[in-house]
Amino acid sequence: MLEMDGVPTLDDVMGNFPSEERLLKGFVAVHECYQDIPCNPCVESCPVHAISMEKLTSPPVIDFDKCTGCGNCVASCPGLAIFLLSLKNGDAQVTIPYEMINVPEKGEKVDGLDRYGKKVCDAQVVRVVKLPSLDKTSKTTLVTLEIPRELLPVVRSFRRR
Ligand code: SF4
Ligand code: SF4
Repeated sequence: MLEMDGVPTLDDVMGNFPSEERLLKGFVAVHECYQDIPCNPCVESCPVHAISMEKLTSPPVIDFDKCTGCGNCVASCPGLAIFLLSLKNGDAQVTIPYEMINVPEKGEKVDGLDRYGKKVCDAQVVRVVKLPSLDKTSKTTLVTLEIPRELLPVVRSFRRR
């Protein structure tokens, strides 16, 4: 379960992780939303109804086979609690919602950080897109990083150099 500091443990993460077979097909959404909070923009944002909830205060459940990796739920989540992961073509990539104004550029080298903000690797920005956020009047930046494969469950943030 969640540590007292609110950071999910690796057991939490791996208990809700797509199979390697699914990751090899391309981007798929994973959530790190484990608490019983009344919230559901992720459910509403999904065009293929891949996210469900038993009730409004239940944690979301993502159907990895239905998910197309579009990123709408990542941009819509007010808790910044959804990410996209991929192992397509053998490249380990994570897509992270980014709310700062100093948006990185494609090709930029950055520091890959774990959930505590500790540097765990060198990473490279391979994609930057903007998608409509929760209120539909603004957009959320989604930054995709290429990272070492073994750190796919670990890297969830980055720092520009
Ligand atoms: S990435 Fe797109 S298809 Fe996948 S769960 Fe999120 S909104 Fe649905
Ligand atoms: S939108 Fe984000 S915070 Fe809200 S239920 Fe979905 S994953 Fe959790």
